[in-house]
Amino acid sequence: MRLILLGPPGAGKGTQAQRLVKKYGIVQLSTGDMLRAAVAAGSPIGLRAKDIMARGELVPDDVVVAIVADRVDQPDARKGFILDGFPRTVPQAVALDRMLSAKGLKLDAVIELKVDATILHKRIATRVAEAAARGGALRPDDKPEILRTRIEAYREQTAPLVDYYRLQGALKAVDGMAPIAEVEGAIDGALAGLPKRAARKKTAPKPPVAKRKASAKVADKKPTRRRPARVSAARGSGRKEASRGRSTLRTTKSRGG
Ligand code: AMP
Repeated sequence: MRLILLGPPGAGKGTQAQRLVKKYGIVQLSTGDMLRAAVAAGSPIGLRAKDIMARGELVPDDVVVAIVADRVDQPDARKGFILDGFPRTVPQAVALDRMLSAKGLKLDAVIELKVDATILHKRIATRVAEAAARGGALRPDDKPEILRTRIEAYREQTAPLVDYYRLQGALKAVDGMAPIAEVEGAIDGALAGLPKRAARKKTAPKPPVAKRKASAKVADKKPTRRRPARVSAARGSGRKEASRGRSTLRTTKSRGG
């Protein structure tokens, strides 16, 4: 399963991504997390991204595209992934399409969390207050004035992706303002409607063809001579019946009858 979670800051992408990770056993690829790790590590990418992120602006496309291209090649992403915070611009989406088709991969769905801009500030204020109460580190870009820039960046540069993916037929819009359980249900409903290959979770794999043939042969096999007619008749009513039949046979035999 390969998904994109699309939505403005504070739409709940992270929360939903974590749940989908558990549900489908796939990895969450958050470009925001990767960039923050790069900043913390002081890597060349981090040094390039640091000030841009602090201002709430978007890091150049080539930087994030290179990070994602590298990340989707990691073994843990083979089973599938959720892109959280990527793509954020049309050129990023085009680069992603090219990247996936070069790898012979396909996106299964793009889930848009629709949220009214007016509640985003409130949500982030709650997130900041909760993080502070836990004694956790605050994100420097969660400050109200920076948040305004981030929301504006979403409106101008990322929102056009809604049409981009709608035209591809991949878009699944969900009301992100509903209570979390309802959002979860709506996402699950949207994913359940996907073609089988995409929505399949951990179903038991079919046995290999050779094994299937072998078991078909066993099923076709005529009963051995030792199996009396009574036992064959009991087969349809379950294994217990059948084994009772067999033990009757043994008893009868041992009695020499
Ligand atoms: P996020 O954690 O997704 O809110 O991202 C935090 C910050 O990282 C954003 O405000 C951007 O500065 C940067 N960022 C994350 N993902 C991208 C992306 N796909 N394109 C450009 N900048 C990004």
